[in-house]
Amino acid sequence: MTRNPRFDVLFEPVRLGPVTAPNRFYQVPHASGMTNALPHVRAGFRETKAEGGWGVVCTGAVSIHPSSDDSPLPFGILWDDKDIRAHALMTDAVHRHGSLAGIELWHGGACSLNRTSRIAPLSPSGMPWLSTHVGFQGNLRPRAMDRSDIRDLLRWQADGARRARSAGFDIVYVYAGMGYLPYEFLLPEYNRRTDEYGGSIENRARLVKEMLEVTRDAVGGKCAVALRISLEELRAKPGKHAPSEAHEIVALLSDLPDLWDVKMDSSPTDCAPSRFSGEGSHEPIIDFVKTVTKKPVVGVGRFTSQDVMVSQIRRGVLDLSGGARPSIADPFLPKKIDEWREHEIRECIGCNVCISSWHDGVPVRCTQNPTAGEEWRRGWHPERFAPAASEAAVLIVGGGPSGLECAVTLARRGYRVTIADSSGEFGGRLRFETRLPGLAAWGRVVDWRLGQLRGRSNVNLYPNSELKVGDILGLEHPHVVVATGARWTKMLYSTIEFPTEEFDAARVYTPDDIAAGILPEGPVAVFDFDNYYLGGAVAQQLAQRVAQVSYITTAGHASAWTLMTNELPLIHRALVAAGVRIHTLERVAGFDGTELALADVFSGTERRMPCRSLVVVGVRAPHDELYRYLKGLGPELARAGIETVARIGDAFAPGAIVHAVHSGHRFAREFETNPAEAPYTRDYPV
Ligand code: ADP
Ligand code: SF4
Repeated sequence: MTRNPRFDVLFEPVRLGPVTAPNRFYQVPHASGMTNALPHVRAGFRETKAEGGWGVVCTGAVSIHPSSDDSPLPFGILWDDKDIRAHALMTDAVHRHGSLAGIELWHGGACSLNRTSRIAPLSPSGMPWLSTHVGFQGNLRPRAMDRSDIRDLLRWQADGARRARSAGFDIVYVYAGMGYLPYEFLLPEYNRRTDEYGGSIENRARLVKEMLEVTRDAVGGKCAVALRISLEELRAKPGKHAPSEAHEIVALLSDLPDLWDVKMDSSPTDCAPSRFSGEGSHEPIIDFVKTVTKKPVVGVGRFTSQDVMVSQIRRGVLDLSGGARPSIADPFLPKKIDEWREHEIRECIGCNVCISSWHDGVPVRCTQNPTAGEEWRRGWHPERFAPAASEAAVLIVGGGPSGLECAVTLARRGYRVTIADSSGEFGGRLRFETRLPGLAAWGRVVDWRLGQLRGRSNVNLYPNSELKVGDILGLEHPHVVVATGARWTKMLYSTIEFPTEEFDAARVYTPDDIAAGILPEGPVAVFDFDNYYLGGAVAQQLAQRVAQVSYITTAGHASAWTLMTNELPLIHRALVAAGVRIHTLERVAGFDGTELALADVFSGTERRMPCRSLVVVGVRAPHDELYRYLKGLGPELARAGIETVARIGDAFAPGAIVHAVHSGHRFAREFETNPAEAPYTRDYPV
């Protein structure tokens, strides 16, 4: 089917200097966790997006010199000619589908800590760039660049641009954003130079201007030159002759780049989690750019709604609709719009698990798209599936994220699938969790899968169906997949970093109890050593209904692991705003129903605080009794016609939603295939 004419504007070509983007879908540079050591994984990941219709597909940050070394965080490199071939794999792959390939040349300045190269980081004035989390800091401080360092930087950028052109890139970036070196020159508080690179706004912008010029010379008219710039801080600074310094800088550099790629300044605002920001959250900062430059402008904002994309183009906010996360969650987003299948788009939920992969130093993972990062390694294509190997029927018990994903993938392969859940509503843990403050968008995990399952003739959905062993034996499905999830336990935390036994006393609860509707008597203490989002979200929700909620964690921050997903500072802010008192680096050592004993995790020093109810958010245990019972039946299973029993998701190994989805997907991909043939291909540098 051809597309809805309402969206035609999204498919218009856009001229970018010497090259033309075939449409307005622009995958902006974003981290993939795939270094030059994984060139085939990287090419496969980017190629899938080009195949899915993204008119431009860019790399993540590619370092131009060893003095820009982000290790142990993953980054691409283009330090010498030997690196060209690794990148050419990607440009060839992207060009195969008629898309343009862009490269984000990058120098991190004081933000790159050079842990491997051990070169003193470069900065405009020798000031350190101190991240809020010491894990992202180093203790080698930067030095101030002199004029010869600036000349070197311009040479590295030019060399990088020449190599990028040789590697086949169509768009070459100057990157002046997110605290990196050219951006550091733009900020008056940070750039304290007194030479021609500091002081006035013309002087502060001089380095970026020169980088644009050397890049243009180096690419010799073959590639477009893009400027990626963060405008949040600059927009907040009143300008001398314009509303803000952001206006002034865009006016100063106006027609120098062939493309403006405009964004926010820090990870939590730039890559804003859905828990705290909606779609299009960058617009108030970047909405002016097109009024100042005639060159095309691209920006992002977790766009999954084609109406928002169209509106921004029609209103003159952007020329190209940029996507990072929406392109990870559904690489085929443009194709689906083009074929009037937009209802099939697997929308990003804004959980930022993809970002956490980069912080973890591994290839990208996505909660919504289990094939992300697995395109080359496991041969998983997001839209193509090996056909069913037989006509076998599969019964899935449990309709949470893992069961639903397993059902969708088996059904897409052509198997007959029955999925049952004891609840009247599918969704498993998300039934409760999406009702917590800010987490409604996560419901897309369930909505997309149910949308895929409904209306398929090979799928039967049975809500309100708690299956017991006898039911399963009588259902005549030769294959049973148990996806019954996990339960939260009341285990506390020992002094040696693993859980103790269950603490079963009056008014001690778990998130399962809160999900079941129990309202604890205040004062309530939420003791969190799971350290992901749930403990913080439960405390925030309880604070709306109970007076005096405290949040206690063994970690140094509330919801400490959400440092990985950019949510941590925003969660702290939300807890404080909700009136929750945060106590860090303590563990619950006892509770007598009126007082809580807390022990400092390092010194063991104990103190007491009044408490009527304790909610423990610690450890989950698989809800796998059904699986174990079925497995224990032995020959009786065969007599009932059951050939295989498997378990997936949290019933197998409790984890985050991303792991449950991956587990369900993997089972369905590998079902009735020879495990020895299931690829897990090792990549190698070229
Ligand atoms: P996962 O994250 O692995 O998908 P969830 O806990 O989110 O796990 O979902 C498990 C689902 O299994 C829940 O919706 C629960 O209602 C359902 N369930 C558990 N036991 C049974 C059973 N015996 N019959 C049907 N559904 C069940
Ligand atoms: Fe979106 Fe979450 Fe996937 Fe990232 S991991 S692309 S935020 S759904």
